[in-house]
Amino acid sequence: MNATSYPVTMDLLTALCKRRGFIFQGSEIYGGLNGFWDYGPLGCELKRNVRSAWWQTVVQERDDVVGLDAAIIMHPRTWEASGHLQGFTDPMVDCRACRKRFRADQLCEDLGLKLETGPDGKTLVLPASVVCPACASKDLTPPRAFNLMFKTFVGPVEDDSAVTYLRPETAQGIFAQFPNVYSVARQKIPFGIAQIGKAFRNEINPRNYTFRSREFEQMELEFFIEPGTDAEWHETWVAERLRWYRSIGLPEGRLHRYVYPAKELAHYASACTDVLYDFPFGTQELEGIAARGNFDLSRHQEYSGKSMEVFDEETQKRFIPHVVEPSAGVDRIVLAVLCEAYREEWIPKDSATGVLRMAEPGAPVPAGFEARTVMGFHPRMAPVKAAIFPLMKNKPELVNKAQDVYRALRKKWPVFYDQTGAIGRRYRRQDEIGTPFGITVDFQTLEDGTVTLRDRDSMKQDRVPTEELISRIDAAVTS
Ligand code: ATP
Repeated sequence: MNATSYPVTMDLLTALCKRRGFIFQGSEIYGGLNGFWDYGPLGCELKRNVRSAWWQTVVQERDDVVGLDAAIIMHPRTWEASGHLQGFTDPMVDCRACRKRFRADQLCEDLGLKLETGPDGKTLVLPASVVCPACASKDLTPPRAFNLMFKTFVGPVEDDSAVTYLRPETAQGIFAQFPNVYSVARQKIPFGIAQIGKAFRNEINPRNYTFRSREFEQMELEFFIEPGTDAEWHETWVAERLRWYRSIGLPEGRLHRYVYPAKELAHYASACTDVLYDFPFGTQELEGIAARGNFDLSRHQEYSGKSMEVFDEETQKRFIPHVVEPSAGVDRIVLAVLCEAYREEWIPKDSATGVLRMAEPGAPVPAGFEARTVMGFHPRMAPVKAAIFPLMKNKPELVNKAQDVYRALRKKWPVFYDQTGAIGRRYRRQDEIGTPFGITVDFQTLEDGTVTLRDRDSMKQDRVPTEELISRIDAAVTS
């Protein structure tokens, strides 16, 4: 945790997210559905900003990556080929006393232990000291494999031949369409296919707010490369992805890498690095970047009978490309951006009383100061880029001018018009949702066309000609 950060708790953050309309419990009016979340008016803008920042860096600004938007439901053979049908499982235990279900590895992890393997080297065994976290009973079933894919039926008949699954990752849509995309994209190896979309996992224990959900969104890139170049491309993508996280306002000091030791790698993988972030509930994964060899394409070739090979004109060789896969979760990144942004501050009531400073949690607000909550989003991530206020609502000249400014800016970004309440309160409402700029139209505006532009973080106000507003905001958003 760096010196300037506020020690946000999940209680503070979830309360703000609900109060201001970032995130709501899914199906809340029916008591909620565990593991499903809805993004409110501000949350969906924030999510859109995360997606478009990713797409801009990974697809739009590169010559060697193209996009795809594949169906969520795929032919069931897909999941046989990918290995998900057989192996996409988590170890589950039941408490025979209170009938609650848990993920065996998480139960162990929470106690600083590791799940053990039995004498056959395969069966998983709980360490003897593990008890039910809900009722403290020791009467737990042995761990057994639970497949995380949601099953569904295609068409009106619910028999075995109609069974298929909601995709547990977006990647397989990319692999299955590799030959089509390769034949139309006018790309040579190395090149990538990127996709953003929903994925579904029937997690045994959804937890930590949106961090582990049952419906979530992924941003995945499959970057196809020549065999033998795996290590260098893996390194390149790890560096690229870390750079991107910094560009959306997550600081170096709270980003970490976890480099998988050889014994933890899947049998087909030559390298894997997770990007982790210091959440209030612990340091956890945002993204995995794996060098997966040609496992996926080879398996689809085997199961579909369709060639996944490419032909290299220069070397006159045919081969199945290897792949490096940076796979990130939109919801986890949104959550990290929210955690990073939250802070409470004490601001002096007038400049003689002191300077703005970080609040001390639980301490009373010092005399001469007032408290404010600020979401300090990077302007690129902020759901609303600017708020426009006429100084008074009962002066039509001010209102008309402010609405002109509002109409001009909303063509470029989501902006907000607010004419109710004292100006200080209007600023404070915007601080709490992280709006980087407050624009006030006052009497001087009518004389010389300038407005005040207030900076969310420093609270300093500049007088700026109306014509300069777009370039000033744009400079911050694209910085
Ligand atoms: P974890 O170990 O946390 O379950 P994972 O290693 O299984 O994650 P991947 O299969 O590599 O995750 O998926 C890629 C990314 O998708 C993850 O880094 C994460 O950001 C996101 N993701 C995976 N599962 C979930 C989930 N249940 N809820 C929200 N995001 C998820």
